[in-house]
Amino acid sequence: MSVAVTSVETVAGRLLIDGEWVPAAGGEVFEVLDPGTEEVIGRLAGASSADVDSAVRAARRAFDDERWLGLSGAQRGVVLWRVADLLAARADEFARLESRDVGMPVSQAVLMVAEAVNQFRYYAGLADKIHGSTTDLGPAERRMHGATYKEPVGVVAMIVPWNAPLIAMSMKLAPALAAGCTCVLKPSEEAPLSALALGTLLLEAGVPAGVVNIVTGFGPTGAALAEHPAVDKISFTGSTAVGRKIVAAATGNLKRVSLELGGKSPVIVLPDADIAAAAAGIALGIFWNSGQICTSGTRLFVHESVHDELVAAIADQGRSMKVGYGTDPDAVLGPLVSARQLDRVAGFVERGRAAGARVVSGGERLGERGFYYAPTVVTDVTPDMEIVREEIFGPVLAVMSFTDLDAAIAAANDTEYGLAGSVWTRDVAVAHRVARRLRAGRIGVNIHRAGGVQMPIGGYKQSGWGRENGPDALEAYLETKSVVTVLDR
Ligand code: ADP
Repeated sequence: MSVAVTSVETVAGRLLIDGEWVPAAGGEVFEVLDPGTEEVIGRLAGASSADVDSAVRAARRAFDDERWLGLSGAQRGVVLWRVADLLAARADEFARLESRDVGMPVSQAVLMVAEAVNQFRYYAGLADKIHGSTTDLGPAERRMHGATYKEPVGVVAMIVPWNAPLIAMSMKLAPALAAGCTCVLKPSEEAPLSALALGTLLLEAGVPAGVVNIVTGFGPTGAALAEHPAVDKISFTGSTAVGRKIVAAATGNLKRVSLELGGKSPVIVLPDADIAAAAAGIALGIFWNSGQICTSGTRLFVHESVHDELVAAIADQGRSMKVGYGTDPDAVLGPLVSARQLDRVAGFVERGRAAGARVVSGGERLGERGFYYAPTVVTDVTPDMEIVREEIFGPVLAVMSFTDLDAAIAAANDTEYGLAGSVWTRDVAVAHRVARRLRAGRIGVNIHRAGGVQMPIGGYKQSGWGRENGPDALEAYLETKSVVTVLDR
């Protein structure tokens, strides 16, 4: 059974397999909530391992018969550019859907859609620039010609989280499709709606049936993908704990694995920094999307001489950010994504309090309906505290002061993570020195969340394997082949 598709309502409860929207084989259905109201906003299909198998086989056929790879890079680029055009034309619709599903204000979701559009445009432009190189080989008596080819890695399973689904999906789909791969995408059970909407849009833009397949479901659906022998590569964004399981599951057929995992990113503020600008930037760096961003600046190391002033200013910034429902035009922050996430964040703060930390601002749930939590600043923490060591994935900033910069850098690097960081100073030389010494994949100078599709992002240490964005992401979906030809004389 399949249906023609025009909207998410039509396809909710279905999986996209080989260009058709089909129900889950086992008939399993799960509910999706609006985190701002706790209302059920969708009933989606829970894909079993049989469904995953069908989706992978469809992607395999689509790869092997070259219905996508057989196009020229330029032709694939045209399709990807059309995806970007359609997405841009429907930015408002996508932003409202993402806002309802994740909780983020529509005004913020609009920026996320714009970044997804950038992803498709950037890799559309790279699709016809994928090529190897040539070289002469061998001694004079036996000349040879060497050529390298860049070929798509094959069938890619993509598993994404709920915090910024449209961007996370686009960061994988755009380069993988540019490279000529075929895909099976699994969005998070918490926020799967934009994946379905994007699925309909990809088909409309001319991505052939079977090239992108979408399976909705929980962890076991992702696990079935991670261990499937016909999947060549897995690209995962999510927690470090699940990343480890993915690596283990991928060993059966030695899949290529890319991982974008957790973080506990440091923010270092020197005494000469512009404190007002730093407060505003650091507040955005931790509170934006209610802290549910893997690169959030969660540990602040501030020079003792400006500690009190900066802490007060960040707390004021947090208090002034209106927390509200996604369509409230004044809302700067929305709810957390789920009751589980609310409990988790509140639990970290409570245990921090019990261990002696001081909550300067926030530190409480807001309202009784919806999963709202106040932007929170916590001081009097020590490096061994859970609130300093573990990824909270909520709007909670832990503040420590320093007098010696070397010690601050060492403390900043004293984490199992290495995703991002920032340094705030007017001294260019110091900024560069600190940026070089932080063991993390992306550093901002006088800005925390910097970047864009051109700039690689990824983790050192347990924050991941590989890079997304920029030319690196395209490379992650390619294999290199070398061909050597003996030249007759
Ligand atoms: P988050 O809590 O931020 O969603 P997770 O790492 O738990 O982060 O989930 C990210 C994605 O991984 C989701 O799509 C989720 O369903 C999926 N997932 C969870 N457990 C597994 C697993 N064992 N194998 C593969 N995917 C999984």
